[in-house]
Amino acid sequence: MKIGIYGGTFDPPHLGHMEAARAALTLLELDKLFLIPAKLPPHKDMPAGGADPLARMSMTERMAGGLGPNVEVLDLELYRDGKSYTSDTLEELHKQYPDDEFWLLMGTDMFLSIQTWHAAERILSLAGVAGFARTESENQELLEVQAQYLHNTYGAKVCTIQLPHIVDVSSTQLRWELSLGQGRDKLYPPVYGYILRHRLYGTHADLKHLDWPELRACSYSMVKAKRIPHIRGAEETAVHLAETWGADPDLARMAGILHDCTKYYTMEEQLNLCAAYGIELDELEQRSVKLLHAKTGAAIARDIYGAPEEVCSAIYWHTTGRADMTLLEKILYIADYMEPNRDFEGVDQLRALTETDLDGAVLLGLEMSVQEMKDRGNPLHFRTAEARDWLKGQREHE
Ligand code: ATP
Repeated sequence: MKIGIYGGTFDPPHLGHMEAARAALTLLELDKLFLIPAKLPPHKDMPAGGADPLARMSMTERMAGGLGPNVEVLDLELYRDGKSYTSDTLEELHKQYPDDEFWLLMGTDMFLSIQTWHAAERILSLAGVAGFARTESENQELLEVQAQYLHNTYGAKVCTIQLPHIVDVSSTQLRWELSLGQGRDKLYPPVYGYILRHRLYGTHADLKHLDWPELRACSYSMVKAKRIPHIRGAEETAVHLAETWGADPDLARMAGILHDCTKYYTMEEQLNLCAAYGIELDELEQRSVKLLHAKTGAAIARDIYGAPEEVCSAIYWHTTGRADMTLLEKILYIADYMEPNRDFEGVDQLRALTETDLDGAVLLGLEMSVQEMKDRGNPLHFRTAEARDWLKGQREHE
């Protein structure tokens, strides 16, 4: 396997890092890429006002989520005492992957100084080095000269790559911009959301009054990257249905953005939140983690993001439905069910029905849900049966 290793302080990880990682994956044809946040970088002092190692790790994980399944964040430098020497990291990785080929990725600043690093010779014997320019103005020729020097002096495997999209930014500059309320255009949204939620780098957003991109960023920072397209799809669909059926599009948007924010919380986290927010659970809910995220999501939407009650109740009921659903509850329920990323037999029919008969679509969604539970041998929550019977009854009386 060809494995890339991209180390850094990642304080915070920004779009420059992300573009470099993406380009290296393709240009070097890597099978895997490890992102390795340093605990104590040997080459620079940790800045005052920076984030702690665990927060840097969490932000790097969020960036990795946007880079695909071959990218992994390793915490091996975080739990090592003293300075985070690349040579120690490579020795460890070499033991774990004795037959694989390593390539260290680095921008000009690191590439030009690697011969001065601790145990440079050993580093260059354990891994190849791929250098790239960080800004348009950096001289590609200088990189070539250094590549030649490293090869001639150490017999190192060296290459230079040209990034197709250079993002001229450094973490230092970004920390400064963030403290002034700027810089979000240089951050992957889930990383930006993490920064806002944890008030890193002097940010002090009022989470109860975020604009839409900020609210999306916060929501996306709470889930796995693979869920983001679904959340975006549910948001757009909910807004469209609100416009079609006369609900408030802003409330529909907020409900769509936040509806799955606690989706990946563990059973323990869900139960702790239920206890903290006084959410009572029935017997089925106590053992079914999938039913809990709607309830805890509603509580977080209310408490952290200041969502109005209509939005919270739409989130609360979006998994099971209930009798007497409000218009917004119906809209979120069905938007979640059939947004454009969903793909199952009958989804097109369901989508078409939402344009002409919202209640009919919700009823069909509920019936499909009942059938699915039956087919899988899963117990059905009684609220879903109640919702179905209520809608059926309504239609019989029309
Ligand atoms: P700081 O401003 O705190 O020095 P940084 O932006 O240089 O931070 P690091 O985490 O120290 O970020 O960098 C890790 C690696 O990413 C280094 O190899 C660095 O050269 C590279 N790198 C940093 N910024 C960019 C960028 N904008 N484009 C490409 N590579 C970058």
